[in-house]
Formats: sequence, structure tokens, C-alpha cells
Amino acid sequence: MTRFFWLREDEAATAAFSGTFNAVHKWSLPGVKCSDCGATWSSWGCHYPCVDLSPLPERAEFERARPEPFPEFARLRERVRPLAPANALLPPGAAFGPLVGTASGEFGPFAWQGTSLLLVRSEALQSLRTEGVRGLLAARAELRFRKKDPPELMDLQLEPRGLFHRDCLPADVPPPCEACGRPAFDRPEAPVLDAASLPSDVDIFRLADFTTMIVGTERVVDAVKRLGLPGLLAQELPVR
Ligand SMILES: [Zn+2]
Repeated sequence: MTRFFWLREDEAATAAFSGTFNAVHKWSLPGVKCSDCGATWSSWGCHYPCVDLSPLPERAEFERARPEPFPEFARLRERVRPLAPANALLPPGAAFGPLVGTASGEFGPFAWQGTSLLLVRSEALQSLRTEGVRGLLAARAELRFRKKDPPELMDLQLEPRGLFHRDCLPADVPPPCEACGRPAFDRPEAPVLDAASLPSDVDIFRLADFTTMIVGTERVVDAVKRLGLPGLLAQELPVR
């Protein structure tokens, strides 16, 4: 059976590189002000850098982060849907298009922003693809460097797939809000993955239940080890 790992920043390894970046994705869905559950919220972690919203006449409406009442959010989401991957999860705050901003310093093979945004140097990405890692869709991050010959950093488009197993969630967890879909649990202390929900066609994805968690198969972890690429910490997750 395939083994699955929670992939995070190996801070001890990335501390050896001076590279930093300050950037945001070009477009995003607004947050939601829900009249049903009363929450004003936005998700984090759903990035689709390969999705181009420039053909939309109302693209400017995706350039400013703000909450909107649910009907307006839903209207804008339907405008994006035909441009997004089939069956893509498009929660409030989902981001699209290239990561745009500035960067400086020396970068290792992996650069992180929090747990949910992973940039990979193009040569490392190519090596991982050559090693047979599946699902490495990526767009070039548009980062302005002051130096000559800056590295090419690729922003991974990781689709939300897979769920937590019920056993690792509190027994009394309420269902998501029926109107806006706001989930009602925090990350479990000891995450367990639901075997039936896990994809078999990609080796790296984000958890649909918790999109700030990036999950990879042993194929990713083995390839990273073989190539000796620093910056990625892998913690095996039980599957049930
Ligand atoms: Zn709601």
C-alpha cells in the first residue's frame, strides 16, 4: 500500500539559504460574509497558479481581497469555474494566476511561505519529474530580484484531494455550514487519512479537508532523498 507523508518546511535546512520572497497571487476569490452561520471568513492554501483569469472582463473584481455576501461570492466563483481544473474546490479566498512580488538572496531547491505555499527551483522540479513524481503542475513565480541571473522559482499547483479519517476528528464535530461550506474543525493533533478518499493518480496534493496541509506519497519522499534536496520535512501519516 502507498505510504503518505505530511510535507512541511525543514527549517534547519532552509536556514542555510538566505532567500526570502514577498509576494501574492495575482487574483483571488473574495472572502465570504455568511448570513447563515454569521462568519466572515476566507480559506488559505487553495492556490491555482496555472489558472489565468485575464480572459474575464470583470477580472479587476478578483484583484482586491475583501469579504462579500455569499450570493456575490457565488456569482464570482461561477465566473472562475470554467477556467479552473474540473471539479476544483474553489473556497472563499482561493487564489489564481502567478505569484507576483519581490525576492532576494540565495535560494535552495525548496522555499516555503507557511505550510501551504511551496516554491521549487526549476532545475529541482525537473529532477523530480525525471524521477517519476506525478502531479508536479507548476507556474513560474513572477518575482523581481535585484541581482543578475536570478533563479527560476516554480509555484506548485496542488489540488485539494483526500480527507481526514473520521476517527481523528472530534466525535461532536458539526457538519460544514450548509450555505457557505465553512468547515468546523481545527487540524487534529494526530492526523489520520481516510484511505478511500486518497488520490492514486498524483504523488503530491493538498488535503481537501485542510488545504494548508501538503501531502506527498513515498515516491516524493524517496525522490527527494535520492536527489539530496534539502528543505522538506516528511512526517508519515497513518491511513485507515
Ligand atoms: Zn456559512
